[in-house]
Amino acid sequence: MQQGATEAQIEKIIARLVEDGFDVHRSTGVIHTVLGGVGGNENFDTAVVELMEGVKEVHRIISPYKLASRGFRPAGTVVKIRDVEIGGGKVVVMAGPCSVESRDQIERSADIVADAGASVIRGGAFKPRSSPYSFQGIGEEGLEMLRRAADRRRLLVISEVMDATQIPVLSTYSDILQIGARNMQNFNLLREIGKIRKPVLLKRGIAATIEELLLSAEYILSGGNYEVILCERGIRTFETYTRNTMDISAIPVVHKLSHLPIVGDPSHGTGRRDLVPPMARSAVAAGADGLLMEVHHDPDHALSDGAQSLYPHQYAELMKQIKLIAQATGRSL
Ligand code: PEP
Ligand code: MN
Repeated sequence: MQQGATEAQIEKIIARLVEDGFDVHRSTGVIHTVLGGVGGNENFDTAVVELMEGVKEVHRIISPYKLASRGFRPAGTVVKIRDVEIGGGKVVVMAGPCSVESRDQIERSADIVADAGASVIRGGAFKPRSSPYSFQGIGEEGLEMLRRAADRRRLLVISEVMDATQIPVLSTYSDILQIGARNMQNFNLLREIGKIRKPVLLKRGIAATIEELLLSAEYILSGGNYEVILCERGIRTFETYTRNTMDISAIPVVHKLSHLPIVGDPSHGTGRRDLVPPMARSAVAAGADGLLMEVHHDPDHALSDGAQSLYPHQYAELMKQIKLIAQATGRSL
């Protein structure tokens, strides 16, 4: 309450909180009276009391998400797919081209990825592109290519689902369904993904706060799908040198606030291959449970995101460094 708030104003606030089921604890200091509301309606709009007379400020102490909060599972969630565990003692690397382009490209990619020690191959068959004139992906045919190449090298598959109608086809071919940055707040899609029992990787939206990312995860968890992996892929800031600003601090923040594993995507996080290795190393040093990275056998001719795709030799070199950083942070690759 404000300094000098009257007893009548204080009583009015208490009555309003009690009306919504709160137990009100009053503490009277020399200058301020503090009212603590416990229990009550968790969806209570704090602005209601904030704008009543005599109130100085209102702070919400509990988080607006429940199932995604660390307190729900203090030990943390481990998403297990065959023999790969995301959120456990190993840093899991998911790598491959931005888009599936052809069988030859994806077979080569599987070799590049597996030879350097990654366990998941990535590749979009349905692509969210800023321009309707850009390459949009080759669809189901691409998913089939990805699956075959992955099986040949005993890799898992991650690929993006852009729309709820694509869930069945993605579930057929892919081990992890990726929800892209542009769809982080596509609430209908999130609800549908909540109904399936398949691991999902939810990317942080281009302009989303960490709280919004966790609320989007809550949509999926509240449907009963607990196999959610989060991904920091950079956010839009006023900086123009990089495509996005890779928010490394989001990684330890998410670990503090939530039990869900989080991986870093330094490719979309920077948009430039020269910056991918340092940001990949930073993400792992900051505790990321894994990395999602773009690598292409011929990035200069890639159909999408070539500039941020690593050359195979760069990728192999980076994997050696990641191994050392994983060990330095008490994990392995
Ligand atoms: C991608 O992974 O290729 C992609 C489109 O990512 P984002 O949704 O983060 O832009
Ligand atoms: Mn891409």
